[in-house]
Amino acid sequence: MTTTHAPAYADRLAEELLNLENGDLPSHPPDVAAAQRVEREATLLDRADLVLRARLVGATAMLRDGETVAGGRIVHQVHREAAGLGDDYLLARCHRAMSIFFRQLGDNATGLEHAVQCMSHTSEDVPSPLRARHLMCLAVLLDETGSQEEAVRVFEEALVIAAANRDGRLAIKLLNNIAYSAYERGDLQAAEDIEQQLWATSESTGEPLTGTVLDTLARLAMLAGRHADVEAILAPVLADDAPPQLLDDGGDTIEEALLTAAEAQRELGDIARAQELLDRALLLCAEHDLAGQQARAREQQALVYAAAGRYQEAFEEYRRFHAETQVLTSAEQDARSRALQAVYEAEQARRATDEFRELAHRDALTGLHNRRHVDEELPAALEAVATAGPVSVALIDLDHFKRINDTLSHATGDVVLRRFAGLLTDAAPGDAVVARLGGEEFVVVLPGADEAAAWIAAERIRMAVAGHDWTPVTRELPVTCSIGITTVTGPGPTAGAVLAAADRNLYAAKRSGRDRVCGDRVSRP
Ligand code: GH3
Ligand code: MG
Ligand code: MG
Repeated sequence: MTTTHAPAYADRLAEELLNLENGDLPSHPPDVAAAQRVEREATLLDRADLVLRARLVGATAMLRDGETVAGGRIVHQVHREAAGLGDDYLLARCHRAMSIFFRQLGDNATGLEHAVQCMSHTSEDVPSPLRARHLMCLAVLLDETGSQEEAVRVFEEALVIAAANRDGRLAIKLLNNIAYSAYERGDLQAAEDIEQQLWATSESTGEPLTGTVLDTLARLAMLAGRHADVEAILAPVLADDAPPQLLDDGGDTIEEALLTAAEAQRELGDIARAQELLDRALLLCAEHDLAGQQARAREQQALVYAAAGRYQEAFEEYRRFHAETQVLTSAEQDARSRALQAVYEAEQARRATDEFRELAHRDALTGLHNRRHVDEELPAALEAVATAGPVSVALIDLDHFKRINDTLSHATGDVVLRRFAGLLTDAAPGDAVVARLGGEEFVVVLPGADEAAAWIAAERIRMAVAGHDWTPVTRELPVTCSIGITTVTGPGPTAGAVLAAADRNLYAAKRSGRDRVCGDRVSRP
């Protein structure tokens, strides 16, 4: 493409994006494929802002389609980049998407935070349809976190915009939310008022009331004791040839309507009709794999049995409902934690790896490093000899430790090991690697220490142990240690060979009387 055409092309893409972002225009369903195409074209034009906007549209569509993990991950990525660009328009949309993400995970409090952030990035000059949708997001979260009055105020603010734009679809969504909020509060007066507005809006704009809205109206009718009206209200959705535009995104509109209708018939005492509706609901739930609705259908079934005096079956069915609900709840929790885990994967995985690595390299009893750590660190230290100078290794074993265990107790032995580990850490130089190899055997790797320095360090350790007042722990039993040291001055020896050399010297120290240090050439008492 030539650069002269690029600006017009970019304008067209921006226009298309705006349509996708403003959502459910029937001619432009914000689907993933469309968003991906726009993203590709924006990439070719080298327009980072449009790329991010397109990516966000795709992610939002994924969230809407229940792909919480994949969508959430992209949303968070886009947000990081948008924060870098300082683009308010994009940031507002990111926060709205994150709000939806957290709401899907059941974390409404965090969802509300993002909805508020969304509004704080929404300037006066954003297109009003978008502003209305941001407001709706905020209102839904306010409602769900217990601020109903505030929620209705925000819903109404959005409603003013929807009315001004003659956006019937949005207005109906908003009114439905207000109506449902009234239903949950049990505010019949407000509900009736909104019901009128719903019908009027539908009539004036030609937008039908969808199944979800009809279900709200049916529930309001039940609340008002008009159970007999429920089936008539839900008739358009319950009809065999329910038009697809009446079925909302969730994919469970008919099942929901059947459950509401069954409940109403049971309340009316028409058990046969209630059973008919429930049978259909259960069939569809199985067909469409709707576990949540299936559990609720079982609950209704239990109530229908009970109403028919079939108490044993009611009890059995209730038990099944209970079991399914429990499975669902834990499955939901699993899904939530998996989703969160996946979204913060990079960061969390890094942190977790660090933590596990650290844990795997520690000795549980003393908190010192362990053999695995030495196995990793010692070869590296030996390799550095060529450039960083000599390395010494001191192998340390407690003397007659078995006696402490046998005379006092194993628990006392553990206390000695822990206290010994503390003395060792304090006495060893700051840059030394101090580890417990197992049992009552320890090692200190001394980088940069030649033979003389190793002697000094080892003696310091030996004296610290021998000079420590152990009487509170071991009473009259002394605690001492023997130390074998070895020094590596040039490249070549393996870690195994070095430890074996130190072990030979340790053995010499034991044999020559314990509580002493032995080195490669000399041993001193
Ligand atoms: P030496 O001076 O020759 O080293 O004699 P010793 O008794 O110290 O050596 P020995 O190897 O015979 O005994 C070591 C004892 O350490 C045997 C074992 O029960 C004990 N031990 C090993 N691990 C632990 C532990 O984690 N806690 C306790 N309390 N004892 C341990
Ligand atoms: Mg020992
Ligand atoms: Mg030992």
